[in-house]
Amino acid sequence: MKNFEYAKARSVDGAIQLSTSESRFLGGGIDLLGEMKEYIVSPKRVIDLKTIPNLDRIETSTDVWKLGANVRIAEIASNDQVRATLPGLAEAAAEVGSPQIRNVATLGGNLAQHSRCWYYRQRDLRCLKRGGSTCYAREGENKYHSLFSGNPCISPVVSNLAVILAALGGRVIVRRGEQEEVTFSIPDLYSDAWNNPLAHNSLRPADLIVRVEVPTAKNRSTYMQVSEKQDFDWALVSCAAAGQKTGGQWTQVAVFLGAVAPIPYAVDSPLLERSGLTSDSIALIAEGLASKATLLAHNGYKLPIAQALVRRCLDRITT
Ligand SMILES: Cc1cc2nc3c(=O)[nH]c(=O)nc-3n(C[C@H](O)[C@H](O)[C@H](O)COP(=O)(O)OP(=O)(O)OC[C@H]3O[C@@H](n4cnc5c(N)ncnc54)[C@H](O)[C@@H]3O)c2cc1C
Ligand code: SF4
Repeated sequence: MKNFEYAKARSVDGAIQLSTSESRFLGGGIDLLGEMKEYIVSPKRVIDLKTIPNLDRIETSTDVWKLGANVRIAEIASNDQVRATLPGLAEAAAEVGSPQIRNVATLGGNLAQHSRCWYYRQRDLRCLKRGGSTCYAREGENKYHSLFSGNPCISPVVSNLAVILAALGGRVIVRRGEQEEVTFSIPDLYSDAWNNPLAHNSLRPADLIVRVEVPTAKNRSTYMQVSEKQDFDWALVSCAAAGQKTGGQWTQVAVFLGAVAPIPYAVDSPLLERSGLTSDSIALIAEGLASKATLLAHNGYKLPIAQALVRRCLDRITT
């Protein structure tokens, strides 16, 4: 790892003032320190956000909850209020890595984490995402890669929290520069990664995630994933579904997939807008994925898993 300055931020303003084009923010460090040790990134200054007071709080209210960027993933998984009101969010948090990782990793860092593609993480390779000219995964070992992408990079988004927050309609509040505050929907937060092989998300280098706001209108939500290992592992495919049930009526039903696209991938279907979701319509929604997927040499197994997870998540929230 190259030498770097270490600075503790005492406020959001202070963190912004400390940041430069060659600095990086530090949450739990699970992702950033790994990248630094592999010489994938070598910031001149690392700005610790954990010393900012009150950024690790969950504020509840009737309609929108505010989760600070420093809230630990373990807290999201175990918080009784989150489990009762936003169960899908707690389920997604509980599936992140291992207890040790969840105790350290933060909400902001989880959303802003970088690609886990093994070619990207290999110190001596310079693939498209690192400014080179080739995607090694397309013709190489693409077992963990995307079924859907709008650009030549097929590295998938791996943040569990991004997938469920997309389904819940979460918004990410970002400080950009001294004054400006920008609000991203989750699809906006990742849209650059759909189009641009260099991008992991739509954040600019000194953008600071301050909090995530989650509306509570969707009173049913769930998250499921399939991994190779029970624990300490990323999802091969993940899926989140959320919706509002009032009386017998369903509204705002949204389903997103993770680990199959550079963004949380929206499962689009006019059938989701109908008030009654039957097992037949759920099966049709899942089947609809096949026509849009591009199967590569080693990742075709992801499609039936994605379809099964879409069916199971929709079954779970609607029954
Ligand atoms: C073995 C293993 C298994 C894992 N499994 C999963 C899994 O199943 N699901 C999953 O979602 N993740 C998984 N992860 C990834 C892990 O959850 C993330 O690395 C972690 O959440 C990152 O959070 P952090 O606070 O440690 O971020 P850091 O490493 O501190 O930061 C990550 C990135 O975000 C930036 N950043 C941090 N905070 C902010 C902020 N507030 N505003 C703007 N930028 C910021 C940093 O500069 C850096 O680029 C796994 C990791 C490992 C090692
Ligand atoms: S999938 Fe993306 S990150 Fe992986 S080798 Fe290809 S360009 Fe690089």
